Amino acid sequence: TTFTELGLANWAVETCNELGMRKPTPVQAHCIPKILAGRDVLGLAQTGSGKTAAFALPILHRLTEDPFGVFALVVTPTRELAYQLAEQFRALGSAVHLRCSVIVGGMDMLTQMKSLTARPHVVIATPGRIKVLLENSDIPPVFSNTKFLVLDEADRVLDVGFEEELRIVFQCLPKNRQSLLFSATMTDNLQTLLELSANKAYFYEA
Ligand code: AMP
Repeated sequence: TTFTELGLANWAVETCNELGMRKPTPVQAHCIPKILAGRDVLGLAQTGSGKTAAFALPILHRLTEDPFGVFALVVTPTRELAYQLAEQFRALGSAVHLRCSVIVGGMDMLTQMKSLTARPHVVIATPGRIKVLLENSDIPPVFSNTKFLVLDEADRVLDVGFEEELRIVFQCLPKNRQSLLFSATMTDNLQTLLELSANKAYFYEA
C-alpha cells in the first residue's frame, strides 16, 4: 500500500515522502482510510508503530477541507508527549501552514488562554490543564465546532486517574465529533469511555 491509496491528498503524501515516510506502517494502513471515512477508531498501538501519523495525517487532510475554528483537540498524558505530538503535527502540517497550540501545566495560563482564543487548528493538551481552562467561560466556545477528539496513550491517561477531567473535556466538544483513541493496552475504562462517542467505532489491534 501507498499513502495515496489510503486516500490522502497529494500534499500530504509529498510531506510524508519529504519526511522519509515512504510506506504506511500497519496502524497507518488500517486506520487512515477509516478515519477519512468518518469512523471513530480505537487503536491498540505502541509508541514507535507510527500511530501519531495514523491520526495526524487524516485529521490534516480533513482540516484543509474545512479550516474553521479549532479542528482537533488531542489529549495526552504528559507535557513531554504533548510537545512531541506538536512537533509531529507541525512537521506533517507544514505544507498547509498549520497552527498548533500546546496547553500543558507549568506554563502561563493567560498566555495559553490567548493562544486558544486565537483559534489554532489543532490543540494538544494534558487533561489537568485543559480542564482548568475550560472552566473559564471564554474557552468552551473555542471548541464549539471541533471535529476530532484524540485521546493519545489513553491507558496512561486513565492510570493517572483523569476520568473526571476527560468527562469535562468530552462534554465541551460537539456530540457529532469523531473520537480517536490510541492506547498500548485495552482496559475496561477505555470501553466505557468509548461508549461516549457517537459513531460505531473501528477497532484496530496490531
Ligand atoms: P510514533 O509511533 O507515532 O511515536 O512514531 C514513531 C516514529 O516513526 C516517528 O518518529 C515517525 O516520524 C516515524 N514514522 C511514522 N510513520 C512512519 C512511516 N510510515 N515510515 C517511516 N517512519 C515513520
